[in-house]
Amino acid sequence: MKNSYQADKNGYYGEFGGAFVPEMLYPNIEKLKQEYIKIMQEVSFQKEFQQLLKDYVGRPSPLYYAKRLSEKYKTKIYLKREDLNHTGAHKINNTIGQILIAKRLGKKRIIAETGAGQHGVATATVCALTGIECIVYMGEIDIARQAPNVARMKMLGATVIPATSGSKTLKDATNEAIRDWINKPEDTFYIIGSVVGPHPYPDMVARFQSVISEEMKRQLKEKVGTENPNYIIACVGGGSNAAGAFFHYLENEKVKLIAVEAAGKGINSGESAATSLLGKEGVIHGSRTLLMQTNDGQITEPYSISAGLDYPGVGPQHAHLFKSGRAKFLNATDEEAMQAGLELCKLEGIIPAIESAHALAALDKIEFKKDDIVVVNLSGRGDKDLDTYISYFNY
Ligand SMILES: *Cc1c(COP(=O)(O)O)cnc(C)c1O
Repeated sequence: MKNSYQADKNGYYGEFGGAFVPEMLYPNIEKLKQEYIKIMQEVSFQKEFQQLLKDYVGRPSPLYYAKRLSEKYKTKIYLKREDLNHTGAHKINNTIGQILIAKRLGKKRIIAETGAGQHGVATATVCALTGIECIVYMGEIDIARQAPNVARMKMLGATVIPATSGSKTLKDATNEAIRDWINKPEDTFYIIGSVVGPHPYPDMVARFQSVISEEMKRQLKEKVGTENPNYIIACVGGGSNAAGAFFHYLENEKVKLIAVEAAGKGINSGESAATSLLGKEGVIHGSRTLLMQTNDGQITEPYSISAGLDYPGVGPQHAHLFKSGRAKFLNATDEEAMQAGLELCKLEGIIPAIESAHALAALDKIEFKKDDIVVVNLSGRGDKDLDTYISYFNY
């Protein structure tokens, strides 16, 4: 099985993955594990999922040839425009998939945790769409920092519950969400926002996001005559947009996969989120992966100017792609990402999410040939980051 980069039946990618959950949740995870692929393969499920991706999300997202950016880097650069999706990023592909699974499992109540609020908004959106109750746990500090997203969730009908323990941020919100799930395992479905968590979540989320590379293949074939680019570049927080952009190319080793993590104020500054480079093996959110921790195993607070990359772990598939060398892991500092984001504004008239700007920053770190075909997954748009852009560039 040397060349398999997909999960095995127990949810392992090499040495990473698995399902480490409290015993009370074991039946839920077990049921989901038995059902998720079956449900996803049902004709009625596919029909409903594809219809919503088309009419509600606005898929397929365009694959755009960025002419001026290509001239600058002396190669051929295409942008996969996930920024044009409804709600402004790739996250909606996954939350639509999971809400349809929840419905088919007869669940009446959705819970989620959110850090910066993007996943909370994507979850509240699909709950409004389907008329299912939505409870979002969010750290008290994050609630104060991310007022517009809190307002969005409330407008969409969600209940936002502050997590007031510990550092009052994402990991505390996760603890609260898991506590809730343990109390009401029968009727509650937990929507996870990235390729993290216990098996089968990482594989399920990757499958929902795989629509990105499925479309990419078709679009490249049409535009350049081959399905296969030379490079695919994506930013990595938990890893879901990258997992989706890589999915259909994992076994084709000629396609170089580039994952870009947030180096924050610098890899050696003590303030970064470059998980694969700085992380060690451990268990976080129910799976074995690489995570940033102290010598005695305490999780280190991550830092990045981009709220979506500010996560101390990385999905188990990415840990395996890193360890096996199938993907190359680069990183970009706050400054590099902010400049790359501004460059896209000036050269292409597109304001990217700061997460996506990290992927763009990698263009400067690779020696391309002039005929190389490079796809950058533009995971989201920058509207949500305007305040950060304003204070960074003193506009
Ligand atoms: C949440 C988010 C990310 C990071 O999450 P992944 O699971 O690593 O994709 C990246 N880009 C945008 C725009 C986001 O909202």
